[in-house]
Amino acid sequence: MLYEKCGIVGIYSPTLFHMLPHALTAAGGVQHRGQQGTGIAIKTKEKIITYKSNGLIKQVFSTNIINRLDKPADWVLVHCRYGTYGNYARANLQPCIVKTKDNDTLAVIHNGEFAATNDFISVLKNKTKKRLKKGLSDTYLFSLVLGLSQGVNWDEKIINCLKNVKGAYSLIIGVNGSIYLARDKFGIRPLIFGKIKDGYLAASETHAFSKIGATVTREVGKGEIVRIDKRGPVSIQKESGRKSHFCDFEWAYFSRPESRYPTTGQQNNKKPSEWLSVSLFRERSGAILASEHPFPEASFVVGIPDSGISLGTGYANTLRLPYRQAVVRDHFDRNGQDRLFMRDDEMRKISKKVLGKLSLIIDARIWKEAVVVVADDSIVRGNVSSEVTRAIFSMGAKEVHWIIGFPAIAHKCHLGVSIRSGEELIATRHKSDPVKIAKELGATSIYYISNIGFIKARLLGKKFVNTTDPKKAFLENGGCGGCITGLYPVTQDGVEYEKSS
Ligand code: 5GP
Ligand code: MG
Repeated sequence: MLYEKCGIVGIYSPTLFHMLPHALTAAGGVQHRGQQGTGIAIKTKEKIITYKSNGLIKQVFSTNIINRLDKPADWVLVHCRYGTYGNYARANLQPCIVKTKDNDTLAVIHNGEFAATNDFISVLKNKTKKRLKKGLSDTYLFSLVLGLSQGVNWDEKIINCLKNVKGAYSLIIGVNGSIYLARDKFGIRPLIFGKIKDGYLAASETHAFSKIGATVTREVGKGEIVRIDKRGPVSIQKESGRKSHFCDFEWAYFSRPESRYPTTGQQNNKKPSEWLSVSLFRERSGAILASEHPFPEASFVVGIPDSGISLGTGYANTLRLPYRQAVVRDHFDRNGQDRLFMRDDEMRKISKKVLGKLSLIIDARIWKEAVVVVADDSIVRGNVSSEVTRAIFSMGAKEVHWIIGFPAIAHKCHLGVSIRSGEELIATRHKSDPVKIAKELGATSIYYISNIGFIKARLLGKKFVNTTDPKKAFLENGGCGGCITGLYPVTQDGVEYEKSS
């Protein structure tokens, strides 16, 4: 089975207008969530037009293509793809376009990963005579199932279909003159909506809203379905009332520092202006790391761009240590803009690319005899930390200590950020022992933030719920730390944690 995690954006307007450039600019705010392919669906007065190709938004959508496609539209959906497990078939690029049993056309974009996907295959085998194409992604299978759903209108069909769907999903569905926004019952992946001048915007992250001056109204609730059409946004399926399990890796690494999220997972609990920015969250993690693992004797602290910077400044400010941006990102390097792990076929070559994307300031006055504290968001395979450690030592540093803003990642993720398991994860190989991990990376030491410290950084004033089993701390405190603990809100087969425990 092929799965794809991603960034999604949808714009709707009650008055037909040329919205493609707007939609693509907003989608730039979720480009970091998927960098392999881009696709759009535009609903003009007459029909749905689609265009998809491999590459970043700016590579796929040249000015010529934008001019050709930018027709007055009711809605536009944009998808930035991060496909995994070695299959980049263009056929699976989204939006998924499906003709339904009643001859409507559906356009579907998805961020997350469905569980129990064999259920989709059984439904399709039972209800259609056509043979299923090989290598279809989870989202395509879902879209085909949705196309067969029963109901008197699309509100009913979508509600009926999603009742039986498991796993992590944030969806935008375009059909006829409406778009629908839906989120799984635990709210594992983000989805937010708000207003633009002539309509509405929905996107994975608030950063997309800032890019086009849109106002954030609120999150789509857990298990909620919102329809947006001429009547404005209407909640057609209320929140699930289940505990939130928003992905904790979004805070540490996956989301942009400019984005903001509510912290408790309950919609409407706070105004969007009071949501916590990812950047400030990372600063708070740095301050917590400073109390858990202080290094007052450090010569200076350096954060690895981009996601390690706020962590490093939070740490340095708390201990009143000098902070130096002595490792910078080379935006003109071939891989300068990329998240290196996002391509399966390149996996083995990542380590060779790290020091092209990230450059040390080559000046021995900075490094010689220094005790350096390096801050980074997380360690997955350890490519960045081993390459950077080696480079810092080669500049003459005395000691290299890492502080890491996410506890050791020892388990896979099947809920939308695609962390693989087994040999690839350095923490699995060493049973999360930081001494052994430091040894393999060649560093003097490594200090991970504690589970509790990490959770407290996002809880703000909200009370921490104590658990007898520390492994359950993430799930009991409104998050998902499955890649740290191996306990997930829902398994890949669709079994729910709360029901099984
Ligand atoms: P490293 O492999 O050097 O530990 O990771 C470098 C950076 O890429 C880290 O910020 C890490 O969180 C991110 N990263 C590495 N591998 C993966 C992966 O498989 N999935 C995701 N979502 N992020 C990864
Ligand atoms: Mg990083």
